[in-house]
Amino acid sequence: HRRYLDTFRGREAVTPDGHRILVCANIGAPKDLEAVLGADADGIGLFRSEFLYLGRDNYPPEEDQYQAYRQVLEAMDGRMVVIRTLDIGADKQADYFQLPKEENPAMGLRAIRICLTRPEVFRTQLRALYRASAHGKLGIMFPMITSVSEVKRIKEMCAQVRAELKAEGVPFDEHAELGIMIETPAAAVISDLLAREVDFFSIGTNDLTQYTLAVDRQNAQVEPFCDRHHEALLRLIRTTVENAHKAGIWAGICGELAADTTLTDFFMEVGVDELSMTPGAILETKAKILDR
Ligand code: PEP
Ligand code: MG
Repeated sequence: HRRYLDTFRGREAVTPDGHRILVCANIGAPKDLEAVLGADADGIGLFRSEFLYLGRDNYPPEEDQYQAYRQVLEAMDGRMVVIRTLDIGADKQADYFQLPKEENPAMGLRAIRICLTRPEVFRTQLRALYRASAHGKLGIMFPMITSVSEVKRIKEMCAQVRAELKAEGVPFDEHAELGIMIETPAAAVISDLLAREVDFFSIGTNDLTQYTLAVDRQNAQVEPFCDRHHEALLRLIRTTVENAHKAGIWAGICGELAADTTLTDFFMEVGVDELSMTPGAILETKAKILDR
């Protein structure tokens, strides 16, 4: 089977109706690059930036973040790298954030909500990201979005950071794409409105499943109630991709469902532009798209 999969190495995943699907990698730290480079990834569709914030006793400085992002962009050598801003809270905790104890952390102060509540923390990350954008093809992605007003606030902060860097004479890519994760039912349902505000969508099926089906992703007891192919999820995915395309932006999937090859035909039919997954699953997905 390994030899069969290797025959798809280096090939573009083009569907029978001629649509190129980027098959990208999810990573959690620069140390994962080796696996990505060996896996024939078309890019990085999700770089979870939490590793920079976890396992330490204070906020990571801009310079450390810049170096980590730059390293990944340079290694990918012009291929797209989507870096997701801080998605802490819920299952991922860091003491120095001094987040209040919550009854229901998955629905609590997490991810973009922390960034909007603590603009200085967010600004530091945005500065590091924009500085790194001078070294490759960067997409900046925001998690846990539920409303248009959040996206507008985020875009204002991005514009401020760009203006600051420009005034300081620091190089960055003016065209670095800004995208959002579609991982709440609210975001999927208003994806027509959100699509006017951003350059891309990436569907986070792990959280989208949890919130749509009301099944805690951390609770093994409700696992039997977690139907990952639930029609509600498939409809939300279809709606999101259709609304993206109507607005002329691209849409990918970066949750675990992206690597589910029993759904690859569905993703192709819907017109998904990118699938991002653990590096080890990439060739299997390329084979599924190409071998017919
Ligand atoms: C998701 O929710 O599908 C996702 C990709 O993000 P995470 O698994 O990091 O929450
Ligand atoms: Mg998520």
